[in-house]
Amino acid sequence: MANFEKVYKAYVEELIEQGAKSEKLRTAIQRAVKAYRGNLKRALELFPDSPKLKERARKIKEYSIDHLPELINKTCEAVIRNHGHCHLAKNAEEANQIISNLVGEPKKIIVKGKSLTSEETELRQYLQGKGHEVWETDLGEFLVQIRGGRPMHMLAPSVDLPREEAAKLVSGITGEEIDSTNIEAIVAAVRRFLRNKYINADVGMSGANAISADTGTLFIIENEGNVKLSTALQEKHIALAGVEKIVPTLEDAFLITKVTWRYANYIVPSYVHMISGPSKTGDIEKVTTYGAHGPREFHLILLDNGRLEVAKDPVFKELLYCMKCGACMYECPLFWVAAGHYGKKYVGGIGVLWDAFIATGLEQAAPAAFTCLLCGRCKVRCPLSIDTPRMTRELRNILISKGYIPAHLKEFLKMFE
Ligand code: SF4
Ligand code: SF4
Repeated sequence: MANFEKVYKAYVEELIEQGAKSEKLRTAIQRAVKAYRGNLKRALELFPDSPKLKERARKIKEYSIDHLPELINKTCEAVIRNHGHCHLAKNAEEANQIISNLVGEPKKIIVKGKSLTSEETELRQYLQGKGHEVWETDLGEFLVQIRGGRPMHMLAPSVDLPREEAAKLVSGITGEEIDSTNIEAIVAAVRRFLRNKYINADVGMSGANAISADTGTLFIIENEGNVKLSTALQEKHIALAGVEKIVPTLEDAFLITKVTWRYANYIVPSYVHMISGPSKTGDIEKVTTYGAHGPREFHLILLDNGRLEVAKDPVFKELLYCMKCGACMYECPLFWVAAGHYGKKYVGGIGVLWDAFIATGLEQAAPAAFTCLLCGRCKVRCPLSIDTPRMTRELRNILISKGYIPAHLKEFLKMFE
């Protein structure tokens, strides 16, 4: 267990040094929490149907996670029917390999929309290692890429970055002088820089917020327009999504998408894309021809990486209901202090559970699991009432039984033996 003590020490040091001691981070999070609460309050007043939608969303997710293998088959059948290709990857390595094979020879340009699943598989780093030029196109994610490090929030990856630092980073990559007090100028510089990448990219990549099994349709929420440009201009569109994103029907997928954006801080997002295959036309003699103005090829990579096993567990299957709306984080006292340093690949209390069973394994997730206060604020805020504290308690029992427990807690527990 010497290694675990090292893991624990490194986690606590990061949490304190880069999280708790950072005045900058705390100010940024305080502002984000205030803005989030105000926006959500306004959205819930404008749309009083929210409680009903939440209930229906929970039922859809419960059904879907209980019927995953069947829904995966249906989804793949539908994607193939739509002249796309469907791949089921059993783990992160396999997903990255499949995508790398689809991209082909080195030196390709790849533009990517934001995708937590690709953070899970470390896809960008993998493709860069194969000699490709890969660009994150979501502004927050682009900033994460050029400064190094990892996202600080599921939906606001650079929530901790002040404008002055953002300007410096962007200026470093574009070579332009940027007025560091002017956020519009920073955004415009990134827009100019990425324009050229979209046009010249060989492959466009995206994730998905929900997938309908009956039609094989991906629903993707965005505001910036970068997903639009990363899924429409290139020869190939490759989408990577966890199998838990699948729900039975198009209507179900829309409902899940709607609840996701409402709790993700949007009255309504600028764009909701529905993508069911490659571009096509039937304009000449009504003969369907694939590859019109958009991509000629469409590939959906469905990632298992432990999800199918978790789906069988009566307690932990609930973590797969998570829509990654990020709402719970704005109410979590630990997130207020540490932001993205609370968790590893996934962040926040629910993220720790994702790390434990899906993304990083028990040992890496253990320190954060023992940090949770079990206060339950996340459950109250979650539109699906996902019981993160209950699962965290159960996870701790597993960790204790495997010896992944910090020495001082072990001593403390001995007092009760
Ligand atoms: S129970 Fe844990 S994860 Fe949930 S709000 Fe409290 S400290 Fe955060
Ligand atoms: S646990 Fe709930 S609130 Fe948190 S990200 Fe998942 S769905 Fe959203």
